Amino acid sequence: MTRLIIMGPPGSGKGTQAGHIAGHFGIPAISTGDIFRAHVGGNTELGAEASKYMDHGEFVPDHLTNAMVRLRLGNSDVRPGFLLDGYPRTTAQIEALDGILAGAGQQLDAVVELAVDDDELVARMLRRAQDQGRSDDTAPVIRRRLELYRNETRAVVERYAERGIVLAVDGSGRREEITAKAIAAIESALGKGL
Ligand code: AMP
Repeated sequence: MTRLIIMGPPGSGKGTQAGHIAGHFGIPAISTGDIFRAHVGGNTELGAEASKYMDHGEFVPDHLTNAMVRLRLGNSDVRPGFLLDGYPRTTAQIEALDGILAGAGQQLDAVVELAVDDDELVARMLRRAQDQGRSDDTAPVIRRRLELYRNETRAVVERYAERGIVLAVDGSGRREEITAKAIAAIESALGKGL
């Protein structure tokens, strides 16, 4: 069983890395952002509620996000493990995830933190806005999402760092090199029984 989290500021490439890393370990990559976007696209009730926040770069409220993750982690495809991408993002979400895992007698193996400097992040996100037409990739929304990451999600990384399970990976450079560095760091941590 391999239970992982990938964290990194918006634009750090964590979604792309999540897919490659999860593929290597044969586990599903679970992106809360992707699940929310699927709900928005499918015009569900959750999608309508979530888009009020997403369009402004704000976090979707914890109770909605936690309930969605609890449901997702109940699927049978997570039996070999999972890689969570974009969750938890608040300390309340850490507690919810701890509760979900404890209920199943499980615990996290490692948290990968991708580090990329701010100028490169903004440039990458504006490029992505053009390529993918994401409504939350405009300059003011990008700034807000970076600010939220700094203010709230840093505390999540710090909380996991206190548990000794954070693996810092340099997120600049070629995609393949970053994936290889992340996989090596995870395998070394798993080998040490971290
Ligand atoms: P992402 O694709 O991970 O950058 O997420 C896109 C947007 O979805 C975020 O800006 C939030 O509005 C929402 N979202 C994704 N994950 C979470 C989460 N764990 N908690 C709250 N909101 C989230």
